[in-house]
Amino acid sequence: MSALNLYHDPDCIFCKIIAKKIPSRVVYEDEEIFAFHDINPWAPVHFLLIPKMHLSSMAQVGTEHGALLGRMMALVPKLALEQGCNPYPEGGYRLVSNTGREGGQEVQHLHFHVMGGPRPWLRG
Ligand code: AMP
Ligand code: ZN
Repeated sequence: MSALNLYHDPDCIFCKIIAKKIPSRVVYEDEEIFAFHDINPWAPVHFLLIPKMHLSSMAQVGTEHGALLGRMMALVPKLALEQGCNPYPEGGYRLVSNTGREGGQEVQHLHFHVMGGPRPWLRG
Protein backbone atom coordinates (compact mmCIF):
# COMPACT_ATOMS: atom_id res chain seq x y z
CA MET A 1 0.00 0.00 0.00
CA SER A 2 1.38 3.37 -0.96
CA ALA A 3 1.79 6.20 1.51
CA LEU A 4 -0.94 8.00 -0.43
CA ASN A 5 -3.32 5.07 0.18
CA LEU A 6 -4.22 4.92 -3.51
CA TYR A 7 -7.08 2.67 -4.59
CA HIS A 8 -6.01 -0.18 -6.90
CA ASP A 9 -8.28 -2.61 -8.72
CA PRO A 10 -6.74 -6.11 -8.46
CA ASP A 11 -8.27 -7.11 -11.80
CA CYS A 12 -7.05 -4.04 -13.73
CA ILE A 13 -4.15 -4.54 -16.15
CA PHE A 14 -2.88 -0.95 -15.72
CA CYS A 15 -2.99 -1.27 -11.90
CA LYS A 16 -0.86 -4.41 -12.35
CA ILE A 17 1.56 -2.45 -14.57
CA ILE A 18 1.82 0.28 -11.91
CA ALA A 19 2.51 -2.41 -9.28
CA LYS A 20 5.15 -3.91 -11.67
CA LYS A 21 3.31 -7.24 -11.63
CA ILE A 22 3.20 -6.85 -15.43
CA PRO A 23 6.35 -5.44 -17.07
CA SER A 24 6.29 -2.21 -19.05
CA ARG A 25 8.75 0.21 -20.57
CA VAL A 26 8.55 3.05 -18.06
CA VAL A 27 8.61 6.65 -19.31
CA TYR A 28 7.90 8.47 -16.03
CA GLU A 29 6.90 7.72 -12.46
CA ASP A 30 6.15 9.72 -9.34
CA GLU A 31 3.93 9.17 -6.31
CA GLU A 32 0.69 9.81 -8.19
CA ILE A 33 1.45 9.40 -11.89
CA PHE A 34 2.87 6.69 -14.17
CA ALA A 35 3.74 6.71 -17.87
CA PHE A 36 4.82 3.81 -20.09
CA HIS A 37 5.18 2.94 -23.77
CA ASP A 38 2.09 1.58 -25.51
CA ILE A 39 2.65 -2.08 -26.41
CA ASN A 40 0.97 -1.55 -29.78
CA PRO A 41 2.15 1.88 -30.97
CA TRP A 42 0.28 3.86 -33.61
CA ALA A 43 3.06 6.40 -34.06
CA PRO A 44 6.87 6.60 -33.70
CA VAL A 45 6.25 7.98 -30.19
CA HIS A 46 3.29 6.47 -28.35
CA PHE A 47 3.09 6.34 -24.59
CA LEU A 48 0.29 6.26 -22.03
CA LEU A 49 0.01 8.62 -19.08
CA ILE A 50 -2.08 7.31 -16.18
CA PRO A 51 -2.92 8.19 -12.59
CA LYS A 52 -1.74 5.58 -10.09
CA MET A 53 -5.16 5.85 -8.46
CA HIS A 54 -7.63 3.57 -10.25
CA LEU A 55 -10.22 5.71 -12.01
CA SER A 56 -12.05 3.80 -14.74
CA SER A 57 -12.19 6.64 -17.27
CA MET A 58 -12.68 10.37 -17.78
CA ALA A 59 -16.33 9.73 -16.90
CA GLN A 60 -15.32 9.24 -13.24
CA VAL A 61 -13.33 12.48 -13.08
CA GLY A 62 -14.67 15.28 -10.90
CA THR A 63 -13.46 18.60 -9.57
CA GLU A 64 -11.73 16.74 -6.70
CA HIS A 65 -9.32 15.34 -9.30
CA GLY A 66 -8.44 18.74 -10.73
CA ALA A 67 -4.99 18.99 -9.15
CA LEU A 68 -4.03 15.46 -10.26
CA LEU A 69 -5.22 16.00 -13.83
CA GLY A 70 -3.53 19.39 -13.89
CA ARG A 71 -0.24 17.78 -12.92
CA MET A 72 -0.70 15.12 -15.59
CA MET A 73 -1.43 17.66 -18.32
CA ALA A 74 1.52 19.81 -17.24
CA LEU A 75 3.85 16.80 -17.69
CA VAL A 76 2.79 16.16 -21.29
CA PRO A 77 4.93 18.81 -23.06
CA LYS A 78 8.11 17.77 -21.22
CA LEU A 79 7.61 14.00 -21.61
CA ALA A 80 6.56 14.32 -25.26
CA LEU A 81 9.79 16.13 -26.17
CA GLU A 82 11.90 13.76 -24.06
CA GLN A 83 10.37 10.77 -25.85
CA GLY A 84 11.14 12.16 -29.31
CA CYS A 85 8.18 14.24 -30.40
CA ASN A 86 9.36 17.18 -32.48
CA PRO A 87 8.87 20.75 -31.23
CA TYR A 88 5.63 22.68 -31.84
CA PRO A 89 4.40 23.87 -34.28
CA GLU A 90 6.07 21.80 -37.02
CA GLY A 91 6.14 18.76 -34.75
CA GLY A 92 3.69 18.33 -31.91
CA TYR A 93 1.64 15.34 -30.83
CA ARG A 94 -1.86 14.02 -30.36
CA LEU A 95 -3.33 13.74 -26.85
CA VAL A 96 -6.30 11.34 -26.63
CA SER A 97 -8.40 9.79 -23.88
CA ASN A 98 -10.86 7.23 -25.24
CA THR A 99 -13.85 7.10 -22.89
CA GLY A 100 -16.47 4.35 -22.77
CA ARG A 101 -17.52 1.89 -25.44
CA GLU A 102 -18.59 4.50 -27.95
CA GLY A 103 -15.38 6.40 -27.24
CA GLY A 104 -13.36 3.31 -28.20
CA GLN A 105 -11.98 2.62 -24.70
CA GLU A 106 -10.54 -0.87 -24.26
CA VAL A 107 -8.72 -0.65 -20.92
CA GLN A 108 -10.89 0.59 -18.07
CA HIS A 109 -8.24 2.62 -16.23
CA LEU A 110 -8.08 6.31 -17.14
CA HIS A 111 -5.24 6.93 -19.59
CA PHE A 112 -4.04 9.60 -21.97
CA HIS A 113 -2.40 8.50 -25.21
CA VAL A 114 0.46 10.75 -26.28
CA MET A 115 1.31 10.08 -29.94
CA GLY A 116 3.81 11.90 -32.08
CA GLY A 117 6.85 11.76 -34.30
CA PRO A 118 7.31 12.02 -38.05
CA ARG A 119 4.39 10.97 -40.27
CA PRO A 120 3.09 8.75 -41.75
CA TRP A 121 1.84 6.93 -38.66
CA LEU A 122 0.51 3.40 -38.59
CA ARG A 123 -2.90 4.76 -37.50
CA GLY A 124 -4.43 8.04 -36.41
P1 AMP B 1 -7.78 2.35 -25.23
O1 AMP B 1 -8.40 1.76 -26.46
O2 AMP B 1 -7.74 3.84 -25.23
O3 AMP B 1 -8.38 1.77 -23.97
O4 AMP B 1 -6.25 1.93 -25.30
C1 AMP B 1 -5.63 0.98 -24.51
C2 AMP B 1 -4.20 0.95 -24.95
O5 AMP B 1 -3.47 0.16 -24.02
C3 AMP B 1 -3.97 0.33 -26.34
O6 AMP B 1 -3.32 1.28 -27.17
C4 AMP B 1 -3.08 -0.87 -26.05
O7 AMP B 1 -2.10 -1.09 -27.03
C5 AMP B 1 -2.45 -0.50 -24.71
N1 AMP B 1 -2.04 -1.63 -23.90
C6 AMP B 1 -2.79 -2.70 -23.54
N2 AMP B 1 -2.07 -3.55 -22.79
C7 AMP B 1 -0.84 -2.99 -22.64
C8 AMP B 1 0.35 -3.38 -21.96
N3 AMP B 1 0.44 -4.52 -21.26
N4 AMP B 1 1.43 -2.57 -22.04
C9 AMP B 1 1.37 -1.41 -22.75
N5 AMP B 1 0.27 -0.98 -23.40
C10 AMP B 1 -0.82 -1.77 -23.36
ZN1 ZN C 1 -6.52 0.31 -12.63
